[in-house]
Order: sequence, then structure tokens, then C-alpha cells
Amino acid sequence: MPIIEAKGVRKVYRGDGVATEALRGVDLVVEAGEFAALVGPSGSGKSTLLHLLAGLDLPTEGEVWVGGVPLSRLSRGERARFRLERVGLVFQAYNLLPVLTALENAAFVLELRGLPRSERERRAREALAALGLEDKVGRFPRQLSGGEQQRVAVARALAAEPLIVLADEPTANLDSQNGLALIERMKALNEEKGVTFLFSTHDPRLLEHVKRIVRLEDGRIVGEERR
Ligand code: ADP
Ligand code: ADP
Repeated sequence: MPIIEAKGVRKVYRGDGVATEALRGVDLVVEAGEFAALVGPSGSGKSTLLHLLAGLDLPTEGEVWVGGVPLSRLSRGERARFRLERVGLVFQAYNLLPVLTALENAAFVLELRGLPRSERERRAREALAALGLEDKVGRFPRQLSGGEQQRVAVARALAAEPLIVLADEPTANLDSQNGLALIERMKALNEEKGVTFLFSTHDPRLLEHVKRIVRLEDGRIVGEERR
């Protein structure tokens, strides 16, 4: 069973009497273990697609299945719960909470899930260690570099042991050293632990490592490359 399947997905945003067709019929299947990139010009629909795959929003037409579950059949609350349990998100809108340490940030999603403290901490420490942050667990976001903060965000996504990690431009705004460190860690997680990743990116250093590139233009998939 694919981890994610989108069929005939259209998304129309309506507001101020203007309708924008952000996605015009997208079909996409992501299998376990993929390390795949969504590329395309600004406005081509990458963020919209990632939001729909995460169940943050529903398509105007078509359906998205995650782990075999059709997201449109879930209530809003069920979708939020499903996301917490099955999907790891690394989106700009989910920045780290400034009043929590790296460890607390990484454990936060598990707290929402009601796991006991010892289990939350064990998993959060493990996820942070996998991203090379074992000696930064007690730091607050302001005491971390941008790259370290982004690695904490990936660790938080991983701590819940999701089916897939969805990331919107994970290396954007990182200097080259921080960007490379994040890329190395994501790649290692994919190769050594089999974590499935789908991310939007423009970053040529990240694209070097992907096994699949899905190209979006004007709300449609216009090309696909596998290596
Ligand atoms: P990308 O991530 O590739 O830059 P987006 O998915 O953000 O593309 O945007 C696709 C199209 O949908 C663009 O035309 C954008 O202006 C429009 N759009 C995105 N989000 C909204 C929204 N919340 N309301 C109205 N239009 C939107
Ligand atoms: P809603 O769309 O239900 O109004 P939000 O868009 O604010 O809510 O958040 C959606 C859900 O995603 C919330 O339940 C929130 O707790 C959860 N969430 C926040 N950050 C993450 C994350 N990194 N990974 C998974 N789920 C998250």
C-alpha cells in the first residue's frame, strides 16, 4: 500500500470574489522509503499540495489517502489527530515554540498524544540525537542557529515515528554549512532508518540527493524523474 496517494486533486481558493485554481488535477503516489522532491516555480502549487497531503486542508475535488485512509472522510478533529499520529510536518507555520527547549519542542507532539513523560523524553532524545543535536537538548530556540532550529523541527516531526515527513522548503534560509548538515541528516534517516520524505525545494544541494523529482507547473504535474 502506498503511504500517500492523491487522485484527481483540484484545489480552488476563493476569496474577495476571485477564484484561484492552485491545483488542476494532480495524481501522485508516494511509496515507503522514498526521498522525493517537489519542484516548480513559485505559485505552481507545491505548498498547496503539501498542505492537502498533510490533511491541513481538503481538496475541492479528488481525494488524498494517507496510509490507506481517505482524508475527506475524517472530521476536522480526526484529521488533526491523524496528522499528529501519522504525518511529520516541517512547515514554516509550525515554528518551534520559543518558550520550550529543544527537548520539550521535540516531545511536544508526543505530549499532545498523551504518552507518558519518560517515553516522550526517550523518543525526543533519540530523534534529536539522530539529527546530531544530543548536546543541544536543553537549549531554547534563540540559543540555536537557524540550521539547528530546523533540525529540531525535523526531530520533532520524527519523534512521533510518522509514516512520512512532509517538508516545505526545509533548507530555505539556511547558510551553506547549516543547509548541508540538515541534508546529510535527512539523507541518513532515509537510508539507514527508511524514513520516507517528500519535500518542496529549490535547493540544488538537496536535489543532488533525491531519488525522485516531481515537477509542478501551474497546478499540474508536468514531469517526473527517477534516479
Ligand atoms: P508554491 O508553493 O508552488 O509557491 P502555492 O501552493 O503557494 O505555490 O500557490 C499556488 C497558487 O495558489 C498561487 O497562485 C497562490 O497565489 C495561490 N494561493 C495559495 N494559497 C492561497 C490562499 N490561501 N488563498 C488564495 N490563493 C492562494
Ligand atoms: P486547525 O487546522 O485544526 O485549526 P492548526 O492548523 O493550528 O489547527 O494545527 C493543526 C494541527 O497540527 C494541530 O492539532 C497541531 O497540534 C498539529 N501540529 C502542530 N505542529 C505539528 C507538527 N510538527 N507535526 C504534527 N502536527 C502538528
